[in-house]
Amino acid sequence: MAIDATQPYDDENIFAKILRDEIPNKTVYEDEHALAFHDINPQAPHHILVIPKGRYVSWDDFSANGSDGEIAGFVRAVGHVAREAGMVEPGYRLLANIGKDGHQEVPHLHVHIFAGKPLGPMLMRG
Ligand code: AMP
Repeated sequence: MAIDATQPYDDENIFAKILRDEIPNKTVYEDEHALAFHDINPQAPHHILVIPKGRYVSWDDFSANGSDGEIAGFVRAVGHVAREAGMVEPGYRLLANIGKDGHQEVPHLHVHIFAGKPLGPMLMRG
């Protein structure tokens, strides 16, 4: 179910549990600002999620309330993960779903990285 992007942070969300090592994940990369791991239900041959370590519900929350260091560290981590995975050539797609119309399901900011085949048009029409 899609969440409300303005809701308060829920420490029991599944990505908070992953950050606390309470449930397993297939880690791709980790540093002080970010954790990257394989999506449990991949929508492309390569589907990685990158999340900030801080308690941010959504891109809206993070871009408004994250520190400059957290934001720079997170953005650099996303680029690093894609580069290290060899995605720059032939290319990849980033996606962040925000709130109900964005169909965000997990209330901890995450950026999806998709790659591994031609990904087609940006959105389904209609
Ligand atoms: P979104 O709709 O943008 O909130 O996407 C949430 C994503 O989290 C989906 O692609 C799910 O497959 C993924 N997901 C949910 N639970 C897990 C988990 N335990 N480990 C990895 N990915 C997950």
